[in-house]
Amino acid sequence: EEGAAVWATATGGVMAYGPLQVSPAAGVLNYGQGLFEGMKAYRTPDGRIAIFRPEENAKRAQEGCRRLCMPPPPVKFFVDAVKRCVAANASHVPPHGMGTLYLRPMVLGTGAQLGLFPAPTYSLVIYASPVGSYFRGKQADPIDLHVETRFHRACSGGSGGVKAIGNYAPTLLPQKKAKKEAGKDNCLYLDSVENRYIEEVGTCNIFVVAKDGTVRTPSLTGTILSGITRMSIIQILRDMGRTVVEERVSIDQLTDGEEAFVTGTAVGVCPIGSVTFNGVQHSFTGDRALTLAVTEELSGVQTGSIEDRRGWIEAIEF
Ligand code: PMP
Repeated sequence: EEGAAVWATATGGVMAYGPLQVSPAAGVLNYGQGLFEGMKAYRTPDGRIAIFRPEENAKRAQEGCRRLCMPPPPVKFFVDAVKRCVAANASHVPPHGMGTLYLRPMVLGTGAQLGLFPAPTYSLVIYASPVGSYFRGKQADPIDLHVETRFHRACSGGSGGVKAIGNYAPTLLPQKKAKKEAGKDNCLYLDSVENRYIEEVGTCNIFVVAKDGTVRTPSLTGTILSGITRMSIIQILRDMGRTVVEERVSIDQLTDGEEAFVTGTAVGVCPIGSVTFNGVQHSFTGDRALTLAVTEELSGVQTGSIEDRRGWIEAIEF
């Protein structure tokens, strides 16, 4: 496999959380040559620990590495490292239903490289932290979104389709304004060409349920991250017999929707209560029945309280 030689020699192991030593000329510090993943470890009702579709995170990291000129870590190397990190932190995985252990694997250009070239060496670093619900309310509380028309998260040909660290710094300002000045939970970003098609929210993908029951989510055109939660929800909806369409979704199609929700590892599934576009607030008045149904299925499978019929869960030995 590409880059296997580099990764096979990677040493390291589990160490206490603390500062890393890296060269001031590291590719990641100078040119943002780095990416990350977000994963969670869940405590099942019988006290075991499970992770969700880790191979998908590994494959997405590989794709990102190719875009950022870094050698892709082999899938098994990546997943084994994640499992070791979870096993070493088993005592920090909250009890069933009380939170999760969030995992942050990063592939970083840690070698020194003064000129604008790929760094000569790379590191896979994983840290973990127990977390509760992502937005300010409880898990199932609806969120209010500010539709961002001035700043864009990604443009065609950029790195929006992968989890490059550089995608996130430009979102800090619009996110801060949306929270502090407008009192919203986050921004919904639009396409950078027409400012009319919805893309994604700061750290999650978006779904709209039309009045006729059709579910729409923006297609992956290179500016939207291919969420593992997104692909799982599409499958859950199809298994429920729903029609799911991946296509360009306009802001009007969103506000015409019966219900809408966001999906992501940190967030899980979260209903959208309202979106504010050009100063006009639109509230969703549907009963959120579908949002609730997919939330229960996904979180039930992830936390081990519903049977994992699709082979999405991997147990951690500790
Ligand atoms: N979009 C962006 C920009 C994100 O950062 C994330 C979080 N990884 C997502 C979508 C959702 O992806 P996932 O379901 O894999 O967490």
